[in-house]
Amino acid sequence: MHAKLFPGSAIEPISAFSFSVLREYDLHTLQAKFGAYDYCLSLRRLTNNVFTHLVNDPYQTFMRVARFWRYLESKVRLGQVHGIDKFFPHRPSGFLMLYCPACSDPGVNMRDIYDGNHQANQFWKNTDPFDKSLADGLAYFPQATKYLEFLKSLGHISPDEYAAHCNHVKVIANQGRIQNQNCAKTGVVNTQCDHVFVMATADMQNGERYANVDASSHHAFQSYGFGDDQTDNHRGLVPIADSYDSNCSYQVNKNGRFASSTYLADQKEFVTRFEHGIPDLHIKGHIDDCIVVFGHPYHWCVGHFHGETAEYYWVELNQVGGYTRQMNDGHCEDTIIAHHNDWNWQKTVNLGEYF
Ligand SMILES: [Zn+2]
Ligand SMILES: [Zn+2]
Repeated sequence: MHAKLFPGSAIEPISAFSFSVLREYDLHTLQAKFGAYDYCLSLRRLTNNVFTHLVNDPYQTFMRVARFWRYLESKVRLGQVHGIDKFFPHRPSGFLMLYCPACSDPGVNMRDIYDGNHQANQFWKNTDPFDKSLADGLAYFPQATKYLEFLKSLGHISPDEYAAHCNHVKVIANQGRIQNQNCAKTGVVNTQCDHVFVMATADMQNGERYANVDASSHHAFQSYGFGDDQTDNHRGLVPIADSYDSNCSYQVNKNGRFASSTYLADQKEFVTRFEHGIPDLHIKGHIDDCIVVFGHPYHWCVGHFHGETAEYYWVELNQVGGYTRQMNDGHCEDTIIAHHNDWNWQKTVNLGEYF
């Protein structure tokens, strides 16, 4: 390690990767969205573009090392190795995500928006069931085992869940059935703040359902230090405006779902403070009553908030779906976490230009 070479194995290393090749891979793949396989093949072709098959193939080892490198890199960059937790006692201990500096703390009005992405999905395949994310619930995804237990406890989707008077919500319900046959996971539900920082991501297993949205919202605000037991610095006074394209139906039983689930119950009072809206473009597909009740221009203090910023990041994340869908659960999660961190980092760097 002192020689800036990362060993291919912790037990019997016979190969090593230079720190510079790992750094280059990290940035190239975050920017251009390709997998470790193509990167390794490119390196082999650079070595010999005629007899490439004779060049040693480091792919399997490289894939493991690059994933662990990113995990270590995030611990350094996000301050964990420097003891950052003591400065943010309201955040989960050991957190590994990049927070929005523009709306991270009480005293600032914080709005969150949800959107379901049906492109970043994962094919159903034989995967390693023991492969877990290295972040283990401390980054954007809820802790996997607890999240799956929560979903399991709810059983199948109740037909009542989407029994809305508004046609738009029925479209959402159909998306799961039509698009996602043969997929173990059918997409993700993101929660983002209105500065378009990713706050949380929850996997969808069978189309978008409210339990996934609840879990994404719960994890986002838990990570940002909100909940019924978080009362320091007047945290309980921060108004929350949330924008989601199915809000006319989603919010109807939301308080009840949070109150009746042990997984969500630590925010059961907190969620009652939410004001619910629908993004300005999506609302065109709703009935007239929805426009009047859920249109942001009719809400106090959020008249200029269109809620469609959730769409910005999908342009980038959809490209990631092309290679994460073949990965094991943990590897897929860790790869998306790296892209979220990179997106949030670029937002951080450029935030000063616009605020
Ligand atoms: Zn923000
Ligand atoms: Zn509606």
